Amino acid sequence: MTNRCRIAPSPTGPLHIGTARTALYNYLFARRTGGTFILRLEDTDAARSSLEHERDILEGLHWLGLTWDEGPEVAGLPARGPFGPYRQMQRLPLYREAADRLLSQDRAYPCYCTPDELAADRHAQEQAHQPPHYVGRCATLSMDQRRQREAEGRKPAVRFRVGEGIVAFDDLIRGHVEIDTTALGGDLVIVRSDGTPLYHFTVVVDDAEMRITHVIRGEDHLSNTPKHILLFRALGADIPTFAHLPLILNADRTKMSKRKSQTAIEDYRNEGFVKEAIVNYLALLGWSPGTEEEIFGLDELAQRFDLERVHSAGAVFDRGRLEWLNGQWMRRLPDEELIERSMPFLFRSLDERAAAGGAIRTPTEADLHALLPMIRERLPLLSSIGDLIDFLFVDDVRVDAALLVPKRWDARTTTDAVADARRVIAEAGAVSFEADELEVALRQLAEERGWKAGDLFMAIRVAVTGRTATPPLFDTLVALGQERTLERLDRAAETLRSGVA
Ligand code: GLU
Repeated sequence: MTNRCRIAPSPTGPLHIGTARTALYNYLFARRTGGTFILRLEDTDAARSSLEHERDILEGLHWLGLTWDEGPEVAGLPARGPFGPYRQMQRLPLYREAADRLLSQDRAYPCYCTPDELAADRHAQEQAHQPPHYVGRCATLSMDQRRQREAEGRKPAVRFRVGEGIVAFDDLIRGHVEIDTTALGGDLVIVRSDGTPLYHFTVVVDDAEMRITHVIRGEDHLSNTPKHILLFRALGADIPTFAHLPLILNADRTKMSKRKSQTAIEDYRNEGFVKEAIVNYLALLGWSPGTEEEIFGLDELAQRFDLERVHSAGAVFDRGRLEWLNGQWMRRLPDEELIERSMPFLFRSLDERAAAGGAIRTPTEADLHALLPMIRERLPLLSSIGDLIDFLFVDDVRVDAALLVPKRWDARTTTDAVADARRVIAEAGAVSFEADELEVALRQLAEERGWKAGDLFMAIRVAVTGRTATPPLFDTLVALGQERTLERLDRAAETLRSGVA
């Protein structure tokens, strides 16, 4: 039998790191085993679900390259797969039919308890230091008693009989799990009195209908699994194999939540992380290849991934490692690709400069081709490109007098250095304006004056770019051209003069 697994996001927020990781592991499991990867939208929480979140989730998964074999219609494409619809709100009749079946077999019963009655039960249980559970008030009502409640105008919920005993299963990641049904809180509401089905029910009806063989999901669902197994049994369906993925934790080992941490994939994307690094990172956030290797593309992962190597201990989210992987992947991108992906970030930072009043020259792809060799190794993020090279496209670089003076220097030394450097650069340029020659001439100047070359280069760097971190200095000067370099040195001299006065 072919393996069938699924990602079942609820569109109640943007694509979350945890959902992306679960989707990735399901995708990899399907690809590795020649199985089918299904996407199902669990949108029954109408108050919190939105189309906007749906779009964000689907688009985000697409962006990461996690394409599904069966799923709902998306971006104008029709739904795909024989078990549709793949949106729960379009499957309501199926849940109704399944609930009726359980009712007719007395595996479930109508429950007429009012919210007030249930609140009073909960209160009494609290007072008695008991865990919250359903007291079973409606579990044994006679037909007459039911009729009487109906006559009072009460609308029943549907409750599933949980029963007594131990539910056991073998989780592919966590091993053998046993849970006593008395810990489950009593009989379970599966359909509310307004007719809407609840998560535990829809997820099981769908997994059964869609012939899901493997449920691979976050560990936060582990405690739901016994309820699901009981429901599968009651529905006469095959019970899938479960694999619960370790929680994703903050550095302080608390659960990573959207309140405390950056969890939306979109935010990482906007920061300038590339999809290859995110996929690579998420793969290692819970799985290890069993070797020292760290760099994995999606296709390679699809050949290597196995659930046996997913660990059960919580996985601490390490942003530093993600950033390192990002640098690695950016270095591996072909020029064209890197340029195409970083252009929007460069424009974004130039727009900010323009809004602040700096005159702008529009960069072209040819500019970037010329600059790429000197910045490629220095880009931790796609968005770092602005900070590195925007000075080339902004004509009005204004520099603080304080920033101009290197740490170990005073204003006077800096003023002298800027004046000398101007002379040397003007002379060097008379022959040819090339990085090697500029370097020889400026190193010689530092030596003559007894300056540390690093201090002199920093003063020049800040004077011509306004920044302390740039591409290699001599390449920077060449990219800027002699005329603009000299103009900027003059302006820096002026700034120093008025700053010193
Ligand atoms: N809709 C559930 C969630 O987003 C899916 C749970 C499951 O995979 O069973 O957490």
